[in-house]
Amino acid sequence: MPTIAIVGRPNVGKSALFNRLAQRRIAIVHDQPGVTRDRIAAPCVATEHPCTIIDTGGIGATLDDGFADQVTIEADIAMETADAILFVVDARDGLTPIDEALAQKLRRAKPPVHLVLNKADHTEQELMVGDFAKLGFGAGLPVSAAHGRGISELTELIDSIV
Ligand code: GDP
Ligand code: MG
Repeated sequence: MPTIAIVGRPNVGKSALFNRLAQRRIAIVHDQPGVTRDRIAAPCVATEHPCTIIDTGGIGATLDDGFADQVTIEADIAMETADAILFVVDARDGLTPIDEALAQKLRRAKPPVHLVLNKADHTEQELMVGDFAKLGFGAGLPVSAAHGRGISELTELIDSIV
């Protein structure tokens, strides 16, 4: 079964997106970034083709060294185990140094990387979408895990790669 890993810095909405795709509340969505959780895998029921999704949030979250190490470990695990990677960023925050550090690592990934701009709750105009192209993974797909916006486009994307 193909495995899709959801990767991104803390608090971008990886778990919220995971729950959307699993159509269950498996992963805990936290207001606080970097809250320790286990890695969770679940069948992706939102897609036509069967696949497994992995929420990498929480990996390394107990490390005191900060987010840089956390995202490094997440990226390593995703790059080793996944058939494709969903690289999630926060469309409202815009590009951050942690996103750039993660992107640098993901550019060397064997599995294909697809950029997902989460928290695009409303119109794209107010978002810093342009900046994200700098990461080297295209313009990215705007979605809102909270409101369900763009999720059908995301499942179509996943179906096209699994
Ligand atoms: P993770 O750390 O990447 O797993 O992020 P979470 O899924 O725990 O979400 C972090 C915070 O962002 C929570 O307060 C969520 O309610 C919020 N959030 C997640 N997705 C969205 C979204 O699409 N829009 C908005 N506005 N908030 C979101
Ligand atoms: Mg999470």
